[in-house]
Amino acid sequence: MKNNKKFSNKQYTISGEKRAYVNFNGLKTLWFNTGTLCNLSCKDCYIESSPKNDRLLYLSHEDVCKYLNEIETSNINCKSIGITGGEPFMNKDIIKIISTCLNKDRELLILTNAMQPLQNKKCMLLNFQENNNLKFRISLDHYTKEKHEKIRGKNSWDKTINGIIWLHNNNFNISIASRSLYENENLLRKGYKNLFEQLNLNLDVCNNNDLVLFPEMNNLTDTPEITTACWSLLGVNPNNLMCSNSRMIVKRKENNKTHVVACTLLPYTKEYDYGEDLNNSFKTTYLNHPHCSKFCVLGGANCINN
Ligand code: SF4
Repeated sequence: MKNNKKFSNKQYTISGEKRAYVNFNGLKTLWFNTGTLCNLSCKDCYIESSPKNDRLLYLSHEDVCKYLNEIETSNINCKSIGITGGEPFMNKDIIKIISTCLNKDRELLILTNAMQPLQNKKCMLLNFQENNNLKFRISLDHYTKEKHEKIRGKNSWDKTINGIIWLHNNNFNISIASRSLYENENLLRKGYKNLFEQLNLNLDVCNNNDLVLFPEMNNLTDTPEITTACWSLLGVNPNNLMCSNSRMIVKRKENNKTHVVACTLLPYTKEYDYGEDLNNSFKTTYLNHPHCSKFCVLGGANCINN
């Protein structure tokens, strides 16, 4: 079967070959998108977060409990919880959400820019200081102030650096997430090594759990479709892709309801919306979006490191 456009047919590519797909292999990580509102408007933000974008509403504590309860009552094995946004610390329920997630013996990873919204909650965060299951991943788009602020905006560097230092000095587990900005990986890691030394951060730039480098995701570059033959040709294991072992909960503005989506990267695309129940979301995912190709298969990105 031939199509006129790339990424237009769920099961076949433009050349009529079988599109690659990923079977669901059990839930390792359940992500909660706490809302797309953010204090920043970063260039090429994959989820288009900004101070104005509320397409994904704030999740309430009750919304989160609904899915944690489903995990319990359905005996679903789930090793870790992830929290992302927008900026999660703008959500008024965030401290309650963190507390509830940590009550179960699971790892909790929070993605944040560590700026004012997090720093406004310092006192409350200190209550979780002793909890080894809690980890923060802070977005720093480059190891220089100049390039970081080119993406994240003026005056964004110092505030994030202050947040990183505060978390680190208060013994929270932290890691840094950076974009590659098409730079050579060795040079990037070297740049971060110098920065971590200057800031006295005890982080290993060679360890992907301490420094995560994400490929670029802008929509301007063309990307090939992935066929079933690509797995062996590219040496990529589909079981390492997020959609094989993760799901994300979002709350859509259009119906004010929570939905389960295939992964953190495609919250708006209807094809990757698997309905309201977690149990019904454990299905095969076809790689029918440019992000699948550019970011996951060719870019080798994964939001959770193992
Ligand atoms: S973007 Fe990646 S994780 Fe999401 S559905 Fe595509 S391949 Fe799977």
